[in-house]
Amino acid sequence: MKVFKFGGASVKDAASVKNVGTILSMFPDEKICVVVSAMGKTTNLLEKVTEAWVNQDVAVLELLSGIEQFHRSIAEELNDSGKLLIKQIMNEIRQLLQSAPPSYYDAAYDLIVSRGELLSTAIVSEYLNQSGIPNQMLDARKVIVTNEANRNARVSWKETTSRIVAAFDDSNPEQEALITITQGFIGSSVSGQPVTLGREGSDYSAAVFAFALDAGQMIIWKDVPGVFNADPRYFKDVVKLDRISYRDAIELAYFGASVIHPKTIQPLQNKNIPLYVKSFTDPGAEGTLIHQSTDAKSQIPSFISKPGQVLVSISPKDFSFVAEDGLHTIFGLLSHMGISINMMQNSAISFSICVDDHPDKIKRLFTALSGDFNVKYNRNLELVTIRYYNKKVIDKIVNKRAVLLEQKSRLTVQMVVEME
Ligand code: ASP
Ligand code: MG
Repeated sequence: MKVFKFGGASVKDAASVKNVGTILSMFPDEKICVVVSAMGKTTNLLEKVTEAWVNQDVAVLELLSGIEQFHRSIAEELNDSGKLLIKQIMNEIRQLLQSAPPSYYDAAYDLIVSRGELLSTAIVSEYLNQSGIPNQMLDARKVIVTNEANRNARVSWKETTSRIVAAFDDSNPEQEALITITQGFIGSSVSGQPVTLGREGSDYSAAVFAFALDAGQMIIWKDVPGVFNADPRYFKDVVKLDRISYRDAIELAYFGASVIHPKTIQPLQNKNIPLYVKSFTDPGAEGTLIHQSTDAKSQIPSFISKPGQVLVSISPKDFSFVAEDGLHTIFGLLSHMGISINMMQNSAISFSICVDDHPDKIKRLFTALSGDFNVKYNRNLELVTIRYYNKKVIDKIVNKRAVLLEQKSRLTVQMVVEME
């Protein structure tokens, strides 16, 4: 069993959907679970639809027709593949929009945004069936079971694993073809409500399927030839990494390399399932292999840049040390507000955190802290992480910029620096 994941860019138009077929036909006689994201920028547009619904903005209808038109024209180019299902899904959304949105924003979000993957798989599955690649569709909402945390739902592993195993069992009458098409990013909560797993969560969905199915390998098909040691958008002279360890991949993803969703690696590592990142435009090329490894050669310095950071220093107004109860209050607020810490440090009288600069969240945080703490901050910063660092690469990256905070461990250095 193999698990493939095709992201939004790999199904952004009719030609890309055809290319999915070309790739699958390179693996005849294999059992493959194919996890598909929403097409192109559909998820972003559905987020706008949600916002318009919640604000009762009339723009909602126009946005929706745009999404419908986009999918319909792809379907038309592919022999009307998925056209009926598209109509049905769009009707369901329209009906939903006529009712009042749930009072909880994130619940409204999941009701709407989860449909993007249903639209894409409708087209992909029917197109493949029509073009001689038999497959069945599996509704991910029937097997990916989560808690009730809308927009960031946590998978209930036991229930999910047993449902996936049952769905793929050869004795299941719905398992006729070798290929199964399913949706990334979406699932259902225990109480049966639609949920999503967090933006870019389809990689993670694929890893959940791979784990449950004890897959022999997972492949993420991307618009890049593999994982690089740095994001080519920010750095010059980048190199493709042929093989990296699970551990390195987790560190790179966690600190902001946008190649793989950070939660993806753990389930694969637990079962020692190799993960390949390959190019969908050059599917025969080697790509990057992420696996269990202690290979010293893979220790090429990697750089990750996270722009748009704010460094916040928090000190108690009563000049007491930032002791456990102070930290307890601060962490409580951060967790409650959904703010994650990218880097932190404490000194005798202040506690510093580097977080993504979402102005609205930061403002709320400052207000909440202002009772007991003095707060100072610096904006327009960048968090740089270098794995397998040495002095030369640090100098090159910092390039005379002011370093506001720095932390070194044996293999990784992190620095908060002014933006260039
Ligand atoms: N469609 C979702 C998103 O754009 C999930 C994914 O693509 O991984 O975030
Ligand atoms: Mg995507």
